[in-house]
Amino acid sequence: MGNDGGSIPRRSEMVREKQKDEKADRKNQLIAMYFYCALSKKPLQPPVVADGLGRLYNRESVLEYLLDNSAFGDGTQICGHIKSLKDVKTLNLKTNPAYEKNKKSTAILSFDDQPVAQFVCPVTMKEMNGNMQFEFLWSCGCVFSAQARKEMPEPACLVCGEAFGSKDLVPINAQDSEVLDALRKAMDTRKQEEKDKKKHKSDAAKQKSKNKHKRNHDSTEHAASSANDIPEKKTAKIQRTAA
Ligand SMILES: [Zn+2]
Repeated sequence: MGNDGGSIPRRSEMVREKQKDEKADRKNQLIAMYFYCALSKKPLQPPVVADGLGRLYNRESVLEYLLDNSAFGDGTQICGHIKSLKDVKTLNLKTNPAYEKNKKSTAILSFDDQPVAQFVCPVTMKEMNGNMQFEFLWSCGCVFSAQARKEMPEPACLVCGEAFGSKDLVPINAQDSEVLDALRKAMDTRKQEEKDKKKHKSDAAKQKSKNKHKRNHDSTEHAASSANDIPEKKTAKIQRTAA
C-alpha cells in the first residue's frame, strides 16, 4: 500500500511484507501436506494411506510407486522406506460435510483463501487443514484430532473402540525432528516384529513339512529311483536311433 506510486518502502513495511510472505509460505506448505498426496502431488483421494512418519498418500500412487520406483521423479527420496503395502496404513478418515457440499473448493488455491478441508475430526468436527494436530492409530487406521484423543478416558480408539498402545499412535505430518526420530525407531521396531513373526511362521511350516517328509520317506525314495531309470533308457534309445 505504502509503496504505491513509487515511494520508497519503509523498513517496517518491508518487515511486514516479509512476515506476510513467510505466513503465506507456511500456509502453502500446510496445504501441500494436508490436501495433497506427498508422492504424486495430486489432491488426496480416498483410499488415503499414511506411512510410519505420518505422511499422507493416495493408495493408488503408492501402488504405482511400488510397481515402478521411478514413476515419480523424487519417489525414492520421499518414500524410500516404503517397500510394500505393509509399510503404509489405510486411513479411516471422516469426510467433512462442508467439503461434500463445496467440492470445487480445493481446486481453487490462493494464499488468502483457506480451502475447505476434505476431512474432519470425527469427534470435534474440526477440519484437518494443518491448523491443529491430528493423529492416527497404526493398529486400526482411524484418524482424529490430538485434542479429542487427550480427552478420552481409556486407551481405546475413539472411533472403532479397538484398544491401542502408545506405540500405535502416529502424529500426522509431524515436523519436529525428535518426534520424527522416535517415529523412525517405531517403524523399525514394527518391521522387526513383522520379520520375527514371519520367521516363526516359516519355521513352524518347515518343521511340519519335515515331519510329513519323514513319514513319506520310504515311498518317496522308491518313486525317485524308478523315475531315474526312465531318462537312461530314453537316452539309449535316442543314441540307437541316431546311429
Ligand atoms: Zn479405530
